[in-house]
Amino acid sequence: MQLVFASNNKNKIKEIQLLLTESIQILSLQDIGCSADIPETADTIEGNAILKANYVTEKFGYNCFADDSGLEVQALNGEPGVYSARYAGEQKNDNDNMDKLLEALKDKTNRKANFKTVICLNLNGKQHLFTGIINGKIIEEKTGNNGFGYDPVFVPEGYAKTFAELTITEKSAISHRGLAVKQLVDFLK
Ligand code: IMP
Repeated sequence: MQLVFASNNKNKIKEIQLLLTESIQILSLQDIGCSADIPETADTIEGNAILKANYVTEKFGYNCFADDSGLEVQALNGEPGVYSARYAGEQKNDNDNMDKLLEALKDKTNRKANFKTVICLNLNGKQHLFTGIINGKIIEEKTGNNGFGYDPVFVPEGYAKTFAELTITEKSAISHRGLAVKQLVDFLK
């Protein structure tokens, strides 16, 4: 079976292909000749995952899945959420985003936050959603060099280290993305 992953992120594609049996071949957007910048105009994480998967299924006719993720901060009513990548502007800069977040939380005692990933799978005319969530808190200073995005300011519940201080293997085992991918893989198997 061929299944399109609505992404050109080689690391994400490789990671998922490794978790699946050989009977499921993952194709990237490039593999199917889709060079469009698929619009991510929904105002929820779920909505954007659905938009991306539907774009590929409707325009190219493939079974497909797409993911979307974000950081939801309690004291900011769930912001930056779906806008996580461009929180501090269209330059989508991780450092600028973290600086804006730390400034917004300066006087807040509630530092609780969670990362969320939603995967939307369109398979043989049916749609399935898989959600992965990891709870934690935002600390006051950036710590650690691994990972990307908000990793240096996020400490997962039950840990004394930020995501940026964990190895990729340690992070994947507990992360929002890892949990959502696991549900997708279990379903497909
Ligand atoms: P995407 O949907 O996976 O591209 O994630 C959107 C944005 O959410 C990223 O650009 C990051 O700012 C943030 N984000 C998502 N997942 C993570 C993570 O695992 N660590 C840190 N930031 C993340």
